[in-house]
Amino acid sequence: MHYTFQMKIICFCFVIVSILGAGLANGQNTHTSKKGTIEQIIVEGNPVRYEYVLAAEDGNRYRISALQPLTNYANRKVSLSGILVGNRLDVSGNIKVIEEADAPLSPASTIGKRKVLVVLFNFTNNQIQPVSVEQARERVFTGATSANNYFKEASYHRYELTGIQRPDGDVVGWLTIPYTNQYCNVSYSGIWTQAADALARDKGYEPNDYNSVIYVLPAACGATARGQLGTIGDNTTIRRAWVFSYFGEKTIIHELGHNLGLNHANGLRCSGTGIPNDCENVEYGDPFDMMGNQALPIFFNNYFRLCLGWLTGRAQTVTVSGDYTLVAPSLPAKGNQVLRIPLKLANSEYSGFSYTLEFRRRYSYDNIYLSPLNNSVFEGVTIRYTKDDLTGYATSLIDTTPNTGSFVDAPLRVGNTFTDVQSGISITTLSVNPIRGARVRIQLNR
Ligand SMILES: [Zn+2]
Repeated sequence: MHYTFQMKIICFCFVIVSILGAGLANGQNTHTSKKGTIEQIIVEGNPVRYEYVLAAEDGNRYRISALQPLTNYANRKVSLSGILVGNRLDVSGNIKVIEEADAPLSPASTIGKRKVLVVLFNFTNNQIQPVSVEQARERVFTGATSANNYFKEASYHRYELTGIQRPDGDVVGWLTIPYTNQYCNVSYSGIWTQAADALARDKGYEPNDYNSVIYVLPAACGATARGQLGTIGDNTTIRRAWVFSYFGEKTIIHELGHNLGLNHANGLRCSGTGIPNDCENVEYGDPFDMMGNQALPIFFNNYFRLCLGWLTGRAQTVTVSGDYTLVAPSLPAKGNQVLRIPLKLANSEYSGFSYTLEFRRRYSYDNIYLSPLNNSVFEGVTIRYTKDDLTGYATSLIDTTPNTGSFVDAPLRVGNTFTDVQSGISITTLSVNPIRGARVRIQLNR
């Protein structure tokens, strides 16, 4: 009895592996070397997970199994060597960047229109339709609280979403793929995605013609959403996102944020003398950003908006001590909305990072959705630990009151000083005013 049961499992696994291999890579269990581009898919959840796929020069896609996170290699051309089992490439640190990414894309290319296709699909064993086609169009493209409206507001009307067949948005579905939802196979190279794409083509939509494809499907995989990490300014490569069961505007905005190249807005709580001493990173810990806490559709932080080219000319790098003014968001955008203080920790993994300061006021989505609990963001200056190269790398909100155990009161209130002894930086909020902006005193002792 037991033996028979095991045999069934083995046989079934063989069928699954065969299906996975079909149309993908026909690898043997051998040591091999492959060149291609690493794609990163962020699997939302607690803890967050990452899936990596090598889009290889041989035309196949290989799921990468690695011991370490490969975020730093995302969307880069690399040479990988490892053990190939089916379409899975098992690597153990043998990763070499074979050429630097092309010249940095102009941030201005995140201005204009993003072509988005929404594909609604379900399964042979679960043909539920959680939203209608019109509801999906309203949430992504046309509604007053749609993702499209959010991107228009967050970009100061520089960026919006559109369809190809219809300017008010392309939605296709519901499509029933010829699989059950029993075995999760959702990501880029997965058979569910391929099957949904094929059915969309039958209906006259070519997924590869879009900048982003959002797949909406019933509950599966024990997941809420997944998003492929794009490259800032890249409007030529298709990026995909998967949203399960609950298809709300907040999730759409967050996953499209990943498609645009933004990573997560995390929190950083330090008990020592400054970065990098005694700090705890909290994934999604930033309550003032759609790429962090998703409870409310509030704006991306100004560092992310600077990365996307929506605040070009509104940022200043601080290299001398003095008092500085930070202006709050407005339309038209005016004054400096971002102050960046380089950490300058030479020969350290923290060189190339800055403290980035912003000040928010009750404006647009921030006015509507930031609850009274989050008033602190209007009453102080927010400090984030950010990467200098504007590639959309994860931000880390500095908790200037680490003893309270919450990031809701993280901003630096008037009269308070944040000091990083390690970097010789101290920041004091002198005053805040929604019209005139915030005044901050920055002292560099180095
Ligand atoms: Zn995410």
